[in-house]
Amino acid sequence: MRVFITGANRGLGLELTRQYLERGDQVFAASRQPTQATELQQLKQQYADRLVLLPLDVASADSIAAAVQAVQANTDALDVLINNAGVYPHAGSGDAHQRLGQLTHDDAIETLQVNAVGPLLVAQALLPLLRAGQRGRILSISSGQGSLTWKATGDPYHYSASKAALNMYMRSLAAEVGHMGLISVLVDPGWMRTDMGGDHATQEPADSARGIIRLAEQLHADENGSFLTWQGQHVPW
Ligand code: NDP
Repeated sequence: MRVFITGANRGLGLELTRQYLERGDQVFAASRQPTQATELQQLKQQYADRLVLLPLDVASADSIAAAVQAVQANTDALDVLINNAGVYPHAGSGDAHQRLGQLTHDDAIETLQVNAVGPLLVAQALLPLLRAGQRGRILSISSGQGSLTWKATGDPYHYSASKAALNMYMRSLAAEVGHMGLISVLVDPGWMRTDMGGDHATQEPADSARGIIRLAEQLHADENGSFLTWQGQHVPW
């Protein structure tokens, strides 16, 4: 399979990259600064023929266009897109900056741009390649924080709103791409020990990655447009 992963240099994206490579798949690992991505560079030495490193800032239209060209230079089709890149402004500061009284325009725009608009535009740009592939799966990493049903606190304002917006964007996309044979879902990866999730998180990104890869394999057409956990259970919108 040919898999495209955003935010591949650390956290969940790096684990997904590693595990897809271990399975024997070809991975297009996108990150903002591939030359600085030490772990990706190490993987490149090990899997030179199946790992393509490419620069991608999902908040930049030019960067998205350049990334598509870089993929097209290597392949004419993709099977799986994992929209993984995401930001949580001031992660580790106890949500202090995402509380009422501390909210800023810049934080709001950056979070929406990276977490919601970026994944939609990446999917749009890669759609011809995904349609040409054998699988046509789009998995966008959302969060339980984006569930309106589960929302019980004010903070984190921007992060929750961005993931709810991502959910709606991808639900819209699913409604359009289903008839093309594509399947697009939102995935809550669980609370992971990464830079974003912090040390107290309950699970390893490697476990989430394993579940997400299995999920991508087992998706059925009737699940197109669903919001699922990394273990495949439905999350309430
Ligand atoms: P990390 O903070 O560990 O990694 C985030 C990744 O996103 C990095 O590779 C980062 O790159 C990349 N990124 C940030 N901004 C951009 C951008 N503008 N363009 C391209 N890449 C960008 O996060 P996690 O691995 O924990 O999170 C992965 C996904 O899972 C995210 O979508 C997150 O919202 C979601 N999630 C995480 C949870 C958790 O508990 N950790 C819980 C629920 C959802 P760089 O190194 O350049 O900054």
